[in-house]
Amino acid sequence: MYTKIIGLSIVIALGLISLRKGWVDFLGLISGFVVGGSIVLLGDLKAFLPMMAFYLSGSLATKLKYKRKVQKEAAQPKGGARSWQNVFANGLMPVVFLVLWRTLGSERWLFAYIASVSASIADTLSNEIGVLNPSPPRLVTRPWMEVDPGTSGGVSPLGFLVALVAPFLLGSLTSAVGLVGSNPVLFSTITGFFGSLVDSIIGAEWQALYLCPKCDKITESKVHRCGTQAKLIKGYSWLSNDLVNLIMSGTTGLVGYLISVRFI
Ligand SMILES: [Zn+2]
Repeated sequence: MYTKIIGLSIVIALGLISLRKGWVDFLGLISGFVVGGSIVLLGDLKAFLPMMAFYLSGSLATKLKYKRKVQKEAAQPKGGARSWQNVFANGLMPVVFLVLWRTLGSERWLFAYIASVSASIADTLSNEIGVLNPSPPRLVTRPWMEVDPGTSGGVSPLGFLVALVAPFLLGSLTSAVGLVGSNPVLFSTITGFFGSLVDSIIGAEWQALYLCPKCDKITESKVHRCGTQAKLIKGYSWLSNDLVNLIMSGTTGLVGYLISVRFI
């Protein structure tokens, strides 16, 4: 009971700080309250702390060298402020897995939860830190092709390293708070790396990619940051970056559920 009150207080405080710092916009804040509040109520502080670690590290990494990312056209739009779509892209499936854990009772759904959060932290941090790799990234499905930093599906040595280290650290935190009965470090590392790979492959093959006719720049958004309507040049127009993250987080959670028997 007391830990839930502490958890909910952290959710509210973190939300208000995030709004002031420009990490979220208003609807992003409300969505954050819904996702964060649900996780505290369903899974208590033990489940919330790993998600909080993802959120804080993701926000800080997005702001890291933001100006340099803007120059490379690899920065998140709106100064990095998360919208409600961004929040649900990474937050919806973890909540679903906690609901399944509560209703069905199997600890394997808690592992699905860990897997989906691991995938999000591996994917977000490897994207945000990986764009700072000194040499240009290569397309994951065609490694002989160099692409511009920030292009979906682009991978780099630095990105791969972060995609292993970030979920390893998340697993260590999850282990420290004792969310599950056994040690989830290896499980978290494997599923996190898998998730970021899934994200890169979907991003490389099917995600919508646009060309701004005015700036002659490739972008992932329908409207380029200069305000010009961009033209679809590759992928499906409905497959946005947020939807790719949602698919990645759900798929990794289900894979985590399936392989969790080896880790319990
Ligand atoms: Zn433009």
